[in-house]
Amino acid sequence: MIIVMKPGAPQSAVQSVASVIRDKGLETHLSQGEQVTIIGVVGDKTRLNSQQLQVMPYVDRIVPITESYKLTNRKFHPQPTRVKVGSHEIGPDTLTIMAGPCAVETEEQLMSIARAVKKAGAQIVRGGAYKPRTSPYSFQGLEEEGLRYMAEAKKETGLATICEVISEEAIEAAAKYVDMIQIGARNMQNFQLLREAGRSKMPVLLKRGLAATIDEWLNAAEYIIAEGNPNVVLCERGIRTYETATRNTLDLSAVPVIREKSHLPIIVDPSHATGVAAYVPALAKAGVACGADGLMIEVHNDPAHALSDGPQSLTFDQFGGLMSDLAPYIKLSERKLTL
Ligand code: PEP
Ligand code: MN
Repeated sequence: MIIVMKPGAPQSAVQSVASVIRDKGLETHLSQGEQVTIIGVVGDKTRLNSQQLQVMPYVDRIVPITESYKLTNRKFHPQPTRVKVGSHEIGPDTLTIMAGPCAVETEEQLMSIARAVKKAGAQIVRGGAYKPRTSPYSFQGLEEEGLRYMAEAKKETGLATICEVISEEAIEAAAKYVDMIQIGARNMQNFQLLREAGRSKMPVLLKRGLAATIDEWLNAAEYIIAEGNPNVVLCERGIRTYETATRNTLDLSAVPVIREKSHLPIIVDPSHATGVAAYVPALAKAGVACGADGLMIEVHNDPAHALSDGPQSLTFDQFGGLMSDLAPYIKLSERKLTL
């Protein structure tokens, strides 16, 4: 439930309500707007006497939250969340471009891609060091060596960095080298991993599961936030449908739905959604046009020889062209693309 205080309620009134709740062993989360303060309550509500709360000074109303996710819920936290990644901020005022190879292959490969995506206007370089591949015989990633190259790429370009993690050990290693961790579609409901990501307190990009509903996705985010880590960004990367012309089907309607239901930033990944480089630009523009806070785009120096996801990777020229073509959409979105 949330307790909405009357406009201009003094701090002392807010604290009295919060302490009644905490005395019953429940947690409170304050959300202070310009006019109104909201007290979010997490825990066993049956221990609370809502009539007693309702008559306390400056309490306006008590609203039950029927959704199973609370901390992720916009009712709990009406202001949009801003997530700091290195010196960059993901949120409602900026448009964030994350770009880079599916997998880190060599130091030279990553460096050349990092330089190219920076030149074209990206703020975050991505690169997988632990790859959750469909086949156990496919390239599985360079692991810690790949993370070291990511740290080198940050040192040279100044770009913030993101890398997928698939285990607790990978989270520990990633914390030493990169600015943000990614939980991939296949691990969206790996609840132990979500909890570990929460305990790490690192910014987390949580991709939507291959067949996850928006409710399941928001509950997955709740696992991370419930461990005390509010730095979560969602990523729509396509869901599995009966259509086979594209690798997945990009569910762009998830963007306005998430905006309504949650305060977390959401970005769109047209690369994994389509699996085809030629379709990426159209959906990247659509993602910005429909209100996404950013994009994740796979870029490779030599897509034909990429060890992973070559067919959907853009060349440097294609990525540069896309960034120029995105300019009018970014302008219309009234967001800042920080270079
Ligand atoms: C990736 O980002 O390279 C990746 C594996 O993405 P997803 O989890 O969305 O398939
Ligand atoms: Mn990939």
